[in-house]
Amino acid sequence: MRLLVTGGAGFIGSHFVRYWLTNHTQDFAVNFDLLTYAGNPQNLTDVVEKFGDRYVFVQGDIADTSSVETAFTVHKPEIVVNFAAESHNSWAIIDPGRFFRTNVLGTQTLLEVARRKGVERFQHVSTCEVYGDLPLDSGETFTEQSPCRPRTPYNASKAGADHAVQAYHYTFNIPTVISRCSNNYGTFQFPEKVIPLFTTKALDGQPLPLYKHSQNRREWVNVLDHCRAIDLMIHQGRIGEIYNVGTGAEKTVEEIADSVLNVLDLPQNMKTYVPDRPSHDRRYLLDSSKIRTELGWKPLVDFTEGLRETVQWYVENRQWWQALKERDAVQEGNWPSQKG
Ligand code: NAD
Repeated sequence: MRLLVTGGAGFIGSHFVRYWLTNHTQDFAVNFDLLTYAGNPQNLTDVVEKFGDRYVFVQGDIADTSSVETAFTVHKPEIVVNFAAESHNSWAIIDPGRFFRTNVLGTQTLLEVARRKGVERFQHVSTCEVYGDLPLDSGETFTEQSPCRPRTPYNASKAGADHAVQAYHYTFNIPTVISRCSNNYGTFQFPEKVIPLFTTKALDGQPLPLYKHSQNRREWVNVLDHCRAIDLMIHQGRIGEIYNVGTGAEKTVEEIADSVLNVLDLPQNMKTYVPDRPSHDRRYLLDSSKIRTELGWKPLVDFTEGLRETVQWYVENRQWWQALKERDAVQEGNWPSQKG
């Protein structure tokens, strides 16, 4: 099969490209990525070395029809896997427009070109965050039927993209499948995200900045378990469906900070508390029984072990993350007011 993987130079996309070429030895992958601050060709150095004859990189913008069309004409993908997105909630508060442009209009542009050219499968990578948040003491979980109630510009832009995907399926019969996954962690994650942020701060001897509501919880999935889930969806997922992908491994922000410090054998007093970003979601928890029963997916990586390996990777790969720390760093707490 020939895949067009958008956003393949980012965290999850680069793992997916490596995962796919390793496990599907006859397949060809085109990595279509704009290389924003979050895209990093160094995530794929080993992929180029190992799979250079079955892999090509194309620098392009998913919101630019002519670049997307050219990639389809030249590479004739049968499967599209759409990871490309602006993905950092804090940036979405400072510059929401670029989230709606890439995440909504970019996805619609891809769908439109896929409609004209024809594809066998359009796999869209979404997030649990489209459902909105849950109270900390809630017994509720989000199912695929739960309404989308996004509360932040990032979450709203991802929900908008999901609606565009569903609309193209119902209106134009595009063979789409949507995955809604909880928080991913693993190697090669940009150091703005919480686990690498805490780890790299600790390694630099700096305090770990926890939002004041440090009891807010997230459900964690190892990035390789997410890649396996997408593989199952591409091969066996029912067209037009949405699948939640979650592990049930819920951790508070406080627990994450403690675990990182614990792995690094550093004292708990390295934590500091900073104001929450606006509309900071309290909790998301997915009901993932559909993908487990229909597709037989289950997470293989234990959270404690996966976190230990991830933190250890950051210890050993300072040269990878050091330069990224300076790239487009958000000034947390410097949020725009209503007027400007
Ligand atoms: P990331 O920020 O690490 O990577 C995003 C990639 O998209 C980058 O390589 C960037 O260069 C590229 N990109 C951005 N705008 C583009 C554009 N206009 N055209 C082409 N490429 C563009 O993000 P990630 O954490 O790897 O997330 C990948 C996808 O998975 C996103 O759609 C995100 O919403 C979704 N997701 C992420 C998580 C998570 O915990 N990280 C959880 C669930 C879903």
